[in-house]
Amino acid sequence: TGCRVCLTRNMSSSPPRLQGCMSAWIIDQYGSNGVLKYTEETTVPTISSATEVMIKVHAVSLNPLDVAMRGGYGAKLLKLRRDPLSVMDNDTEFPLILGRDLSGVVVDCGSGVTHFALGDEVWAAVPPWKQGSLAEYVTLTEYEVSHKPKVLSHIEAASIPYVANTSLSALVNGGGLCRDSSSNKRVLITGGSGGVGTFAIQLLKAWGAHVTVTCSQNAVGLVRGLGADEVLDYTAGDVVEQLEMMEKFDVVFDGVGGDTEEWAMGLLKPWSGAKYVTLVTPLLLNTDSMGLLDGTLNAGFSLQIKAIQNLLSSGIFYRWGFYAPDGPALDEVSKLVDAGKILPVVEAQFSFTQVPQAFQKLEKGHARGKTVVRVA
Ligand code: NDP
Repeated sequence: TGCRVCLTRNMSSSPPRLQGCMSAWIIDQYGSNGVLKYTEETTVPTISSATEVMIKVHAVSLNPLDVAMRGGYGAKLLKLRRDPLSVMDNDTEFPLILGRDLSGVVVDCGSGVTHFALGDEVWAAVPPWKQGSLAEYVTLTEYEVSHKPKVLSHIEAASIPYVANTSLSALVNGGGLCRDSSSNKRVLITGGSGGVGTFAIQLLKAWGAHVTVTCSQNAVGLVRGLGADEVLDYTAGDVVEQLEMMEKFDVVFDGVGGDTEEWAMGLLKPWSGAKYVTLVTPLLLNTDSMGLLDGTLNAGFSLQIKAIQNLLSSGIFYRWGFYAPDGPALDEVSKLVDAGKILPVVEAQFSFTQVPQAFQKLEKGHARGKTVVRVA
């Protein structure tokens, strides 16, 4: 295609790339930060189907999932999704490239690509079963990619896609919310100061919802600045007691997990279609520890039990929320960003040589928005 010719022309000044190698951070075993390795010998992921686009990565942001996957989290289920035929074989996923978000430029297109052209600035959240974005190039289907908001730099844009796709998938499919149905809905977000929370607050405010947030004392100013209507410092006194004194909620969006679900149910409006959606689910942990079949069955069973119990006792829907790749959803977010309704929240920036330091930052917790890595 024209794109591929252009790629060759672009690459002609760069012999190593003509040989199909690129720089990337890889792991070839699971473990702590020491397993992260920089290499210039990773194969460039060229176009293998008509609907794929190849992107030169300019910036990447990290998510708690990257730290967890570095340690082997979800390995069994993700391996099944990558290649069902090799699920019983050892180490077939290595060398594995982590990194989910990206902002970059299209450098090659499959013959059936209709929405993108060479040189387009794009953003995307790479599914965890695909090779990640801590690399010079990533190849995705065009459905997974979206045009980057014009007002954002690559660094800023890279901070949004994964938390945006997660929030949209969880709030729309799990929470039953959307642009036209959120006005006057009361939503509680737990963990409002992190990557997901700082995005979800802004999305829900853009949709007209009333947003209450729990966070630590030193994040109160940040989440208020993003538009949260009520902010409760969970480190000062009994936050559950304070929440119980408030008007009940239509949706609880839980980014903290643990015992939150034990008290959050009582904060929802009974018998009114209210929904509790949690991002902290045992599915991947169960498949890691119990195996694919037992782990999936166990997780599915516990989900069904909780869903039925809550529905029968108070008419509340209990749901798990998940990231889902969705370029068209990012198109909608792009419009909100260009309209100034959603701002990027970049807490820390690292260069491509500092990827291990970026992981260390994430491992310390207490995120206030996102950690971004400059690649190009
Ligand atoms: P971050 O690490 O970016 O943010 C977590 C935030 O929660 C931090 O700001 C932290 O700050 C705050 N926090 C911690 N404890 C509490 C508490 N008890 N009450 C209120 N706030 C608290 O994570 P993300 O926002 O990226 O993700 C949130 C969760 O969702 C993670 O567990 C992640 O793994 C999960 N997730 C799941 C997905 C899925 O597909 N199911 C997809 C994306 C995320 P501080 O400690 O200072 O209070």
